[in-house]
Amino acid sequence: MKRKLLRISLWVIGTLFTITLTGFIWLSVKFNTHQVTDNIYMISSPTGANLTVYKSDQGLFVVDTQLKVLNFFIKRHINNISKQPIKYIVNTHWHPDHNGGNAKLGENAVIIGHENLKKRMQSAQKGYGLTKPGSSHDFKPRKAEDLPTKLFTDTLIISFNNEDINIFHVPNSHTDTDAVVYFKKSNVLCVGDLVWKDKFPYVDNFNEGSVLGLNKALSTLIAITNSNTKVISGHSDISSRNDMIETNQMISKSIDFVQSRISKNLSLTQIQEEGLSSDMQSWASDLVPEKNWIEMVYKSLN
Ligand SMILES: [Zn+2]
Repeated sequence: MKRKLLRISLWVIGTLFTITLTGFIWLSVKFNTHQVTDNIYMISSPTGANLTVYKSDQGLFVVDTQLKVLNFFIKRHINNISKQPIKYIVNTHWHPDHNGGNAKLGENAVIIGHENLKKRMQSAQKGYGLTKPGSSHDFKPRKAEDLPTKLFTDTLIISFNNEDINIFHVPNSHTDTDAVVYFKKSNVLCVGDLVWKDKFPYVDNFNEGSVLGLNKALSTLIAITNSNTKVISGHSDISSRNDMIETNQMISKSIDFVQSRISKNLSLTQIQEEGLSSDMQSWASDLVPEKNWIEMVYKSLN
């Protein structure tokens, strides 16, 4: 009997070990480092948000820090780019897939965020349930070591390695905590979750995000960039100014459509049932299906 128990225990331990090892290898393989310019890199992963590393002899400047569970992989990939210490971290907004590595990566760094970021991170939050329209998800307050240590209101310029790095707030867009980072000399713009190349953006109405604010924010970003600008967003391949223009045209069209139906006193369900014109349906994704997108626009207009 004892032997049988031992055999079963060994089998359970062996299986768990195999599953863990398989998961570990799978994750390792799915991480990728893309070189964007001479000294700017984007690290992408199978889950969580893209992370930007600006390397210099003075240290590293990092935008977003991914999910906490991926700390080990992120640290390894950053080390492969440079062994220099991380001096600055900017969080583009409060969603945990953009700041989960703050404590681990930011031990000796200044962690920069918009003033609303800290408020959101240190208290419990509700966010969109991404599985079905109308559902929500609860987020717990974050630990003190995860919080930003330097806050800004509108704009903050950090001079680093002969580059003036421009960090600015775009109000009520993806959330009410959004920070955009512009490496002007390198001509690289980190936009967090404002742009989802060729996909409906995810607008967090639960946290004061608004399609109207996003529309305005993208107009600003289009005005300050050019056709050579590399755009790094949270969950897409490296994008361009043209991708921002196309996204913003789609957003304007969606606003006009939903607004015209609201003016005719149609309910959200009726507008969702009618649906967008066929040329807009290719923007739908598993994350933001057409019905969710219409709901995001509708809530922003109400
Ligand atoms: Zn987000």
